[in-house]
Amino acid sequence: FEDNLKKAEGYLARFKRDGVLNRIGGQDVASADGSTFESISSVDLKPLATVARGKAADIDRAAKAAKEAFPAWAALPGEARKKLLHKISDLIVARAEEIAFVECMDTGQSLKFMSKAALRGAENFRFFADRAPEARDGKVLRAPGQLNMTTRAPIGPVGIITPWNTPFMLSTWKIAPALAAGCTVVHKPAEFSPLTARLLIEIAEEAGLPPGVLNLVNGMGEDAGRALTEHPDIKAIGFVGESRTGSMIMKQGADTLKRVHFELGGKNPVIVFADADLDRAADAAVFMIYSLNGERCTSSSRLLVEESIYDAFTAKVAERANRIKVGHPLDPQTVIGPLVHPVHEQKVLSYFEIGVAEGATLAAGGRKIDGPGGGPYVAPTLFTNVRNDMRIAQEEIFGPVLSAIPFKDEAEALAIANDVQYGLTGYLWTADVTRAFRFTDALQAGMIWVNSENVRHLPTPFGGVKNSGIGRDGGDWSFDFYMETKNIAFAT
Ligand code: NAD
Repeated sequence: FEDNLKKAEGYLARFKRDGVLNRIGGQDVASADGSTFESISSVDLKPLATVARGKAADIDRAAKAAKEAFPAWAALPGEARKKLLHKISDLIVARAEEIAFVECMDTGQSLKFMSKAALRGAENFRFFADRAPEARDGKVLRAPGQLNMTTRAPIGPVGIITPWNTPFMLSTWKIAPALAAGCTVVHKPAEFSPLTARLLIEIAEEAGLPPGVLNLVNGMGEDAGRALTEHPDIKAIGFVGESRTGSMIMKQGADTLKRVHFELGGKNPVIVFADADLDRAADAAVFMIYSLNGERCTSSSRLLVEESIYDAFTAKVAERANRIKVGHPLDPQTVIGPLVHPVHEQKVLSYFEIGVAEGATLAAGGRKIDGPGGGPYVAPTLFTNVRNDMRIAQEEIFGPVLSAIPFKDEAEALAIANDVQYGLTGYLWTADVTRAFRFTDALQAGMIWVNSENVRHLPTPFGGVKNSGIGRDGGDWSFDFYMETKNIAFAT
């Protein structure tokens, strides 16, 4: 642990010294009006870096750079893009420790998970690199007297707007397919955790990505983010963040008819029937809400348990929650680090009060923790005796807070699971295969795991229904978003 602290200091020194400038057309640039903001450490709330605060003029410059770089990048053979994206992946692996350490300090997420997230960033690039050569391939559709041929072409320069929770992994998940498809990109990272986006663009350029193909503009959502969504040269917006921000982006993009892809919030149910393997189910439920500080869109924040086992099962979960180590994100033993920022801490703490006022019982946690550095640490929390109409069961808290609701039978479980504005993921625990088919078929969610926690297989579609999103990522679904499909009909 002591060693990790020293290493982190080394990795962060350059950010403290040089700050974070925007990177446009392969050049470091301050924001046009010279304004900046501070990125603070989640551990001790001290400044980590002074960051260029981009506004509309900076977005305009970046969009022009992306537009200028687009024709050559789009014309590059898929094999060449594949090679370059593999190089980016290799360099991410080579700098995975640095990425993970910087991410831990900027977000408060623990090293246990961030070291994996950095490598997942490399995997994202590898995955889409391998598919770049076939991205344009289409279909042949025969008709009487006609042969139709479809082909795909990249849509143009795109904007990518990302949230603060696991910024490196999420940015690569959006940027890699855009580049593989032949699009150029303007990336606007979240203001709470902007540091690793800077590492990513440096790595991409070191791998040989031509200037202007990927551009980085930091800043606030309401100015840089907004300007990106309104810019006429930007053809599509890939957005990951809150549902209400998605709805704002849709309005902002309306005048320029922006194509949008939204990965939004969740209030995901984990449903446990009495016939399930209850120890496995408890482990998975605990993992899915308390890993990544609960700051995870796919976290299972609603625990629906069959009445007959409700008390025993929630006791198992409470016992496990109380054993979770909360501590410094760079301590290898830590599972839960500090929340990202005091502003977010206020939101999470407010739900402790809301839950109690609504009549739920605090079975674990529900309090602040005095952790190393004095950052915004909170205890892993379990509310029992929750009704689904309570705010703690309906609203995305985005912290380590689980709300446990009893159900009588399958019909009631399904009604409760679906009675929420979100529909990102669902987790079902049962030994009854017929019930699993029936239940998952009716469950309103974009992604469902049966007898498992969230284990991602990258070729499968990722995305949500209802207020959890629009569109799918993963495999060919990503290319469909970043590309236009054209049909050419030949008379025969
Ligand atoms: P957020 O919506 O507040 O911010 C996300 C990004 O949008 C930031 O970069 C922000 O600056 C920008 N932004 C804000 N207002 C904007 C505007 N008017 N126009 C353009 N851009 C704007 O979200 P957050 O708090 O950073 O992240 C947490 C949220 O992200 C949670 O709701 C979580 O569920 C969601 N999330 C979803 C997924 C998924 O894949 N579905 C993954 C991770 C996080």
